[in-house]
Amino acid sequence: MVEGKILKVSGPLVVAEGMREANMFDVVRVGSKKLIGEIIEMHGDRASIQVYEETAGIGRGDKVVSTGAPLSVELGPGLLTNIYDGIQRPLETMRIKVGANLTRGIDEPALDRDKVWHFEAAMKFGDKVTPGDIYGTVQENEVILHKIMAPPKTYGTIVELRSGDFKVTDRIGKIKYEDGTIENITLLQKWPVRVSRPYKEKLPPVDPMITGQRSIDALFPIAKGGTACVPGPFGSGKTVVQHQLAKWSDVDLVVYIGCGERGNEMTDVLREFPDLVDPKTGKSLMERTVLIANTSDMPVAAREASIYTGITIAEYFRDMGYSVAVIADSTSRWAEALREMSGRLEEMPGEEGYPAYLTSRLAQFYERAGKVVCLGSDGREGALSAIGAVSPQGGDISEPVTQATLRIVKVFWGLDASLAYRRHFPAINWLNSYSLYRDRLSGWFAENVSKNWMEYTGRCLKTLQVEADLQEIVKLVGMDALSADDRLTLDTAQSIREDFLQQDAFLDVDCYTPLEKQCGILDLIFTYEDRARRAIEAGADIEDICDLPVHEQIGRAKSVPNDEYKKAFEKIKNEITAQLDRLVASVERE
Ligand code: ADP
Repeated sequence: MVEGKILKVSGPLVVAEGMREANMFDVVRVGSKKLIGEIIEMHGDRASIQVYEETAGIGRGDKVVSTGAPLSVELGPGLLTNIYDGIQRPLETMRIKVGANLTRGIDEPALDRDKVWHFEAAMKFGDKVTPGDIYGTVQENEVILHKIMAPPKTYGTIVELRSGDFKVTDRIGKIKYEDGTIENITLLQKWPVRVSRPYKEKLPPVDPMITGQRSIDALFPIAKGGTACVPGPFGSGKTVVQHQLAKWSDVDLVVYIGCGERGNEMTDVLREFPDLVDPKTGKSLMERTVLIANTSDMPVAAREASIYTGITIAEYFRDMGYSVAVIADSTSRWAEALREMSGRLEEMPGEEGYPAYLTSRLAQFYERAGKVVCLGSDGREGALSAIGAVSPQGGDISEPVTQATLRIVKVFWGLDASLAYRRHFPAINWLNSYSLYRDRLSGWFAENVSKNWMEYTGRCLKTLQVEADLQEIVKLVGMDALSADDRLTLDTAQSIREDFLQQDAFLDVDCYTPLEKQCGILDLIFTYEDRARRAIEAGADIEDICDLPVHEQIGRAKSVPNDEYKKAFEKIKNEITAQLDRLVASVERE
């Protein structure tokens, strides 16, 4: 065990000497209070240590002891429904033990040591074990079956394994490694947070993570195993978008990382999340959620660790063959923590004071997303999708964190203050947002939703672009200067925005739209447009077309309950044809 002495303390940064034998990223205990820290830089016998707790009262000459192990998380039954801080200390358990103001230096295991779980063995004496093989399962709650897996690098033979009731540290069996050594198997395993968990093979992202949010699924879809970012100024609806994703996405689990938003906002999340109901199971959303929270009274350094802690837990569930979404809110606060540490390390600052390695650190986070063939001989597949919220000051997306993120992620949902101000929600700006998965997912959509899907959604994007150009012309010369065809394009664009893209997260009939229904609404909008264009050709007046009552019916289509829309949409479609035919007939009579 390496022991050194503190040379200087600067906020969350402690420099200690006598640490030559210690390793980069070793966890150390600092001072008599044994504060938890991590070595982030080594120069000769000097170690720079980022301390995850308030360093007041610590001073020159105090002892620093290395634990010889990197910052790791505990993985096993009991993760779900838990709320952890950035270094995986269970907040609720600690609150019960020591009260609301966390005492420094406390060591509380992440997984409850007393809780008993029922383990159902899936292997038996004599079975060969390779990494990722499933020893057995624990029904962690009604929603999630927790698979107990052989850790990476485990090659051997089972010499004992039994079903039964166990605590996480109890021996559930024994394994004999290839070199002949025998070790106990437990429900609990550990993994260093800064190292990504291995898998067999990365697969191309070809199926969408369905969110039921029309502007996302139809215009800017994210793949299972994909990466996305949501930047937006205060009040533009970031929190609502993230809650919608957590609630509705067709993923098995969600890991939500709150990296130190202003204190009260984080407590909002802590209060709100347990109240959210999972629409699919009717149970609390927490049953399939792990929450990592840095409240404002925790030092910045803990934020830096939190995204690694979160994504490691997510990888662990991915390895079981689940589809997992990681939502990090907000990566801007995380980057600020990075900037503060970099400043204290006296590194050369890059743009706006952020360290030059900002982009590579962000990439290290997002690169851990993906769809993979998991370790294990059963060939199961898992997916980890990563979504980061960014909160640029004043909504200015040219700032370094947003720009660095954009270089990495494949989907950009840009929230727009002016849309939010006009109460167009979700306020995803259709002109600057994008998804690089659209083409890759086209096969899936054609096969599973409709062969019209790509054409319709592409047509939405195109129409909205043309609308923006036409609006410029209208600003200059007025609406009357436009041809009837252009007027119809504006009319269609308005319908796309109001009847399709606008979606009320708080309205039961509107908060989630299945893909087939999304396609159905678009079918109405474009059937109408095509028919109307023919009517214009036949001499019908554009004003008369825009005044047709079927307009309103299309507008109400999204509020038709999800289980009744097919018949209703058929009726509206007939109305479209009937009303436009009547109009054309009357023109021809004149
Ligand atoms: P932010 O987190 O970006 O500060 P919020 O997510 O708290 O913003 O959203 C601000 C307000 O905007 C919400 O309280 C809500 O009234 C409204 N809002 C945002 N998104 C939607 C939505 N999809 N449907 C309805 N209202 C919304």
